[in-house]
Amino acid sequence: LIAAKELVKKYGDKTVLNGVNVKIDKGDVVAIIGPSGSGKSTLVRCLAGLEKYDGLVTLNGAPIMDAKTAKGKIGMVFQSFNLFPHYTVLKNVAYPYHTIKKINKTDSLRKAKTLLEKMHLEDTQNQYPSTLSGGQKQRVAIARALIMEPEIIIYDEPTSSLDPELAYEVFETIKNLADNGYTMIVVTHQISAVRHFANKIVFMEHGNICVEGSIENVLNNMNNPNLKKFLERVE
Ligand code: ATP
Ligand code: MG
Repeated sequence: LIAAKELVKKYGDKTVLNGVNVKIDKGDVVAIIGPSGSGKSTLVRCLAGLEKYDGLVTLNGAPIMDAKTAKGKIGMVFQSFNLFPHYTVLKNVAYPYHTIKKINKTDSLRKAKTLLEKMHLEDTQNQYPSTLSGGQKQRVAIARALIMEPEIIIYDEPTSSLDPELAYEVFETIKNLADNGYTMIVVTHQISAVRHFANKIVFMEHGNICVEGSIENVLNNMNNPNLKKFLERVE
């Protein structure tokens, strides 16, 4: 579905991605883990077309040049929610569908409402983001990504600003989507949660993918000493 070939990203003379190759198939749920500064956010931002880079990123075989070509096809959910503070929950979710997909207001609002109902957020639809819990905010952000019917949803540390029980709420939502066949990439430090919904795992270090494979293979036979050390520290 989405693939990166020899992806290189530099800031000045600092190389942040060192020729990364990765392939994500339809239905994959891939967890990206690794130490701070290893390039996880940079990698997913490149995959989403939010950064310039050297190398090639393709979606269904076609190059993703920038955010414009990725728009609507790749959904992104950030640690900081990025909701519009002056819009209600309903409008936050309906807005991109209306403006990017050029769907009329009534249909956009109707679709947003249905989605919020499915995600058990209908009671919040007239609230403003500042009145929601962190977990609710993040689930609204997920709803806002979902309304675009993206081919893949990418999460960059979606729960790292949340208390454990709110993080659990968000991971439950992600697990639910995984069970429904959504293709997703989740950058996270919460390895224990990853086991419940991811089928693949990628371990990054110094701008490289050091280890990748199925969850069982990677987490059960840890031949890579750096991964072993990393997991001992985070778990
Ligand atoms: P974390 O777990 O802390 O989120 P990360 O694995 O997501 O880390 P990145 O944010 O991808 O790491 O950063 C990788 C490297 O790139 C870091 O050394 C960071 O300082 C550098 N970097 C990221 N963005 C920029 C930027 N806009 N300008 C310069 N350097 C940057
Ligand atoms: Mg990051």
